[in-house]
Amino acid sequence: MLHSPYTWLGESLETIKKANWYRQPRALASQSGSTVMLNGQSVVNFASNDYLGLASDPRLAEAAIAATKAYGTGSTGSRLTSGHRPLHRDLEKAIAQLKQTEDALVFSSGYLANLGAIAAVVGKRDVIFGDQYNHSSLKNGAKLSEATIFEYQHNDLSDLRTLLTQHRGQYRRCLITADSVFSMDGDLCPLPELQALAQEFSAMLLIDEAHGTGVLGERGAGVADHFGCTQSEMIQVGTLSKALGSLGGYVAGSQAMIDFLRNRAATWIYTTGLSPADTAAALKAIEIVRTEPQRRRQLWENIRQLKTALGNYELVPSESAILCFGLESPQQALAMGDRLLQSGFFAPAIRPPTVPTSRIRVSVMATHTPAQIQDLIENFQASFAYG
Ligand SMILES: *Cc1c(COP(=O)(O)O)cnc(C)c1O
Repeated sequence: MLHSPYTWLGESLETIKKANWYRQPRALASQSGSTVMLNGQSVVNFASNDYLGLASDPRLAEAAIAATKAYGTGSTGSRLTSGHRPLHRDLEKAIAQLKQTEDALVFSSGYLANLGAIAAVVGKRDVIFGDQYNHSSLKNGAKLSEATIFEYQHNDLSDLRTLLTQHRGQYRRCLITADSVFSMDGDLCPLPELQALAQEFSAMLLIDEAHGTGVLGERGAGVADHFGCTQSEMIQVGTLSKALGSLGGYVAGSQAMIDFLRNRAATWIYTTGLSPADTAAALKAIEIVRTEPQRRRQLWENIRQLKTALGNYELVPSESAILCFGLESPQQALAMGDRLLQSGFFAPAIRPPTVPTSRIRVSVMATHTPAQIQDLIENFQASFAYG
């Protein structure tokens, strides 16, 4: 009999395990909140993207239930066929209003929003310059587009300028892409400088506000709001699944851009519209972001408390709700994560290949109490002393 064509799977998994890169999901058997049930143990959750605590807000649940009762569980078709609901447009208008753009388009996830937008706006004759630490969805969107891709060193404007100077001229359209908050480090992209470079080299600019929306800026509209850069004609992508506590993604931009994407973004055209429940929950979340700035203030107070106490550890420079503490090896990071877990804190080890260096990643929520934060600080200090 022939050698099975699937034996390589077992071998590959062995290699992954030997490198300490093997990963498995862990089940949270409760509502997402500042404390969760993990493998039967109650732990304080420092691993959630639910920055404002909205995923367990009863108002989102009620909105989702009401929408389900009114419109059913599935939207049953793509938006251009039978899947379009008035709720989708309401959500898109609310996103555009928050982002101060002319319009917005809702996708089934942030990942699909990036794939769809990038592959629609550039193609074979074009070029993309992307930050080396960009999210997987930006990198895969670039590949899907078939444009030529150059990666610039993380947040390195002079490297980006050099690449633009060398290569921009050989291509038709040009797109610069960056996470606005880098998801595995917590630092921000230098948005005003990126906008200036984009203008100088006649490049479009796409930023991914997945971890910025709801967290940064006067109005909670993200890093563009934080830097006061909302008036530019850039492409703002984001997700409904982090601070907004729901599921789905969006692109916000000019009328022409959104109109074009409705006609050319394959991951929007050939997929089922967002479910009524997710749509209604996200719409409610945006209303709360707009009307309850005290949640954002509390989040930043919590971030400040942690940074002040733990700033002398190997804290990766951060200006967001994501705080990462560097460790020398994957084994050390794993051991630290395990010790924290035993003490009742869920703050996972993040290792290569997800990031170049091993670390413990802490994400802060508005709903963490000062006592929970203080407990984390004390356990962290004890664990570091031990390890
Ligand atoms: C989470 C994330 C996404 C994907 O968003 P989903 O809605 O979860 O698919 C995209 N970009 C960045 C930077 C993210 O952190």
